Amino acid sequence: AVKNSNVLFDVKQVTFRYPDRSQLALNRLDLQILRGTKVALLGKTGSGKSTLLQLLVRNYAPDSGEILFAEQPISAYSESALRAQMAVLTQRVHIFSDSLRNNLQLASRSILTELQISDVLNRVGLQHLAEQGPEQWLGDGGRPLSGGEQRRLGLARILLSDAPILLLDEPTEGLDRETERRMLRLIFEHAKEKTLIMVTHRLTEIERFDQIYVIDDSRLIENGRFDEL
Ligand code: ATP
Ligand code: MG
Repeated sequence: AVKNSNVLFDVKQVTFRYPDRSQLALNRLDLQILRGTKVALLGKTGSGKSTLLQLLVRNYAPDSGEILFAEQPISAYSESALRAQMAVLTQRVHIFSDSLRNNLQLASRSILTELQISDVLNRVGLQHLAEQGPEQWLGDGGRPLSGGEQRRLGLARILLSDAPILLLDEPTEGLDRETERRMLRLIFEHAKEKTLIMVTHRLTEIERFDQIYVIDDSRLIENGRFDEL
């Protein structure tokens, strides 16, 4: 079971290197993420932001140091216990060769109604997709989606999930300013009672975050609120 502790993630001196690389992707990283806070991971391209997110969702394990999740080593949890806690949007959204309905259904624990599907598509600005109905085919051999459409479909999955922790990797990359602001508003509204961990290298609405971690060249270089940095 997952304890109701205040410190959700405790990353302690974590070092990680991808197996086929000589350089470290994370170098003795220390950080804590408190339950219910909104956290931004900021930094230049290649600095290690996505890698950190991958470790937080346990897709990789540290080479040294450790990650505690709700006070227990993250390695101690079952896959299903972790999955129930976390809704994850990876930097490249995966679209399955399947119907629009099934591409959204995987994010929700209850069977989605047609109304829920059209509603969530409207909210993320994909109403033109909704017009073609939930059975239209996506992925290989199906309707092609632009990068921005894929990202918004990924966001729709997040909005359909009831997981209490959201981990989003550049959810607004490649969107224009106005769409970006709209998506951020949706994200924060959905995350109101949740923990939000968001990778970004933009500063749009950065003042909304409780905590900003700046990563540079695999190391943590700064942390604080926007007005403290
Ligand atoms: P961006 O802003 O471009 O997304 P990032 O901060 O997310 O960058 P990471 O993707 O975490 O950076 O990459 C950190 C380092 O690890 C980089 O040197 C990158 O080339 C390398 N790296 C990332 N993913 C892999 C992988 N799957 N295999 C090998 N090396 C990788
Ligand atoms: Mg990245």
